[in-house]
Amino acid sequence: MTKIKEKTLKNLKRKRFWPSIVLFLTFSISSFLIIVIGIEVFVTYVVGSKIMNQSEVAQETAYVIEQKVQYGEDIPHAVRYANFYLRNANDMYVVDEHGKCVMQVGDTKPILEQYALSVVGEAYEIYPDVSGNYSGMPISSLKDIFLLNMSDIAERALNYSEYTYYETQNEWLKEVIVEQPYWVHVPADLRGAQLYVKGVLEIERQDVIYVLYFGALAFLLLFLPLTFMFVNTILNIRTQHQMSRVLYMDPVTGGHNWLYFQQAVLKLFSKAWNRRKTYAMVDIHLVHYLNYISCYGSEKGEELLESMDSFLQARIKRTEIYAHNSRADFGLVIRCRGANEEECKAYCYKRLRSLLAELAGLQPEKKLHFHAGVCMLYPRQKERDWLVFSRKNADVEQLFNLANTAQQFNHVESEQIYFFNEKMLEQRRWEQWVENNMQSALAAGEFQVYLQPKYNPVDKKLVGAEALVRWVCPEHGMIMPGRFIPIFEANGFIRKLDDYMLALIAKLQSEWTVERKKAVPISVNISRAHFAQAGLAEHISRLVDGYGSGHNMIELEVTESAFFDDKKVLIDTVKQLRAYGFPVSMDDFGAGYSSLNSLKDIPLDALKLDAEFFRGEDEMGRGEIIVREAISLARELRMKVVAEGIEVREQVDFLVGLGCDMIQGYYFAKPMPVSEFEQLMARDA
Ligand code: C2E
Ligand code: CA
Ligand code: CA
Repeated sequence: MTKIKEKTLKNLKRKRFWPSIVLFLTFSISSFLIIVIGIEVFVTYVVGSKIMNQSEVAQETAYVIEQKVQYGEDIPHAVRYANFYLRNANDMYVVDEHGKCVMQVGDTKPILEQYALSVVGEAYEIYPDVSGNYSGMPISSLKDIFLLNMSDIAERALNYSEYTYYETQNEWLKEVIVEQPYWVHVPADLRGAQLYVKGVLEIERQDVIYVLYFGALAFLLLFLPLTFMFVNTILNIRTQHQMSRVLYMDPVTGGHNWLYFQQAVLKLFSKAWNRRKTYAMVDIHLVHYLNYISCYGSEKGEELLESMDSFLQARIKRTEIYAHNSRADFGLVIRCRGANEEECKAYCYKRLRSLLAELAGLQPEKKLHFHAGVCMLYPRQKERDWLVFSRKNADVEQLFNLANTAQQFNHVESEQIYFFNEKMLEQRRWEQWVENNMQSALAAGEFQVYLQPKYNPVDKKLVGAEALVRWVCPEHGMIMPGRFIPIFEANGFIRKLDDYMLALIAKLQSEWTVERKKAVPISVNISRAHFAQAGLAEHISRLVDGYGSGHNMIELEVTESAFFDDKKVLIDTVKQLRAYGFPVSMDDFGAGYSSLNSLKDIPLDALKLDAEFFRGEDEMGRGEIIVREAISLARELRMKVVAEGIEVREQVDFLVGLGCDMIQGYYFAKPMPVSEFEQLMARDA
């Protein structure tokens, strides 16, 4: 991935919702703190102001006592006097400078030392009452009773049911709902005696209601922006989530896209590197996807890719990664188990075999065909020069390219799985060369017709020929069709070439007619790639008519299709061609995909038995039986039989015995230039 892409991606993936979450949390925590502190300050104020009154009484009492003591009274007398003088019914408690009780008025006394005492405001020290307190436990300050029992107190304050007992609302509001005894302390004389005066904190209903009002208001004011922020954060997170989904979604299959694949594989490899595991990079390719689209439309094509995606998703293991690459290709990384390279390879092969078989089963009636190219990645392979594969920096694209090279190399129909090797790279370079040069070669007339005669084996007469192309190029000399026809078939150039060959033969035939030469029918190969084209028969007829040659002198060789079920197209085209007067023969019968079964449906003039029948170990064994049956079958169906690739005398004799009509093979003649063939024709036809 380029630096720019990487940067854009990083930006996209940045989690933008974090700031919102942090903001939301900060705001809600600070709101909560503001409310709590507000209430606390408020309560402190209410409680503090009440205590202040009580404290003033205590100070006054202390003042009177001190006056009396100065005039020589003892403390108990002074206290009694002060109490009487000030008409104060408060409990009091006096200790001398040693802390010993010298005077107690009333039944209760303060707790002096047992508990830590706190200060409300600055001036007043207060002490808990020995008779306990509201909450039933020691508390460190009076306002705590209020806060600790907030819910209980609030419930009492808001008890409207009692409301009816009161005459005015004011009375109800002023009702005391909490009474909390406490002691205020002041120095009683200059010698160190201490005076404690008992007070009762009375909290009225309205005090509580004020606090509640304050809390509710603050909450409301903060609640609105808080909800807004909350909703905003949730929406933000959702958008992020959707964005990353889109980022990794393939627009065609709806599954993972290539970006996902690249990143997942990179991550996997950088982890796997330490652990010395073997992986396989695989390119799974649906063969003839373009033909599929031509036949069924692009929507059906996409549906097929979609179903492939879902299939792979359901079938891959936890250690594997897959994604759609482009068009009809999927990338797949397989973790290969095995003690050595051989075992790993075998594992991968087996796994792919079953996957491909199941993929073909997705649409069994359409005969889907798949190829797979594999690039094995053994641990310590990084030394190999064609791999850019280091711990943190595997070049996923390059690896897939190698798997793709292996996949494209795959031209043998019976084999579906190919493992990458260096020869394939050479082949790929060759393909590149062919693609770069084919157009100019066609224009320059570098494609030449060679003709291979067909003989009647009985009377040894020349009865026909097949036109075979040769690429005669200044750079490489003569190139055989096996090296470039498959490439043309894959890239579509074959149509141009076949038209070119057909035109040359039509021209040749009309020249022979004009020159009144003895002539034989020439057969021309029509590649399978043509059958995707509508109006093929008409096209051929028009092309031949352009040269004014007779249709019966141009035979067309077709092979049964290997790709999905286009038999109907094949049958229709063959029928039309024959209706135009062209003889049609089935080429390579017995090789690859052709079947006896199809003979009954396709009306043909001739059957060309594939050279494979006459090669290999089984010479004249089981092949013999099949050849015999094929010939008698063709007879019954009124077809001629041509045997191809016949090289030796025994084969000729065998075929004559079976009544084979024509033989095309090196035994009689190799493919030759037109001029040479014309001489032969003059002699043998
Ligand atoms: P094909 O149509 O099956 O042609 C027969 C091939 O067998 C020719 O190979 C021919 O040279 C070879 N052959 C014939 N007799 C013998 C024999 O006794 N022994 C051996 N070993 N080989 C024999 P060639 O010319 O290399 O062509 C290969 C294939 O390329 C053809 O197979 C055909 O499929 C394709 N091809 C050639 N020319 C054209 C063309 O103009 N258009 C298309 N579409 N395909 C072509
Ligand atoms: Ca042929
Ligand atoms: Ca053939």
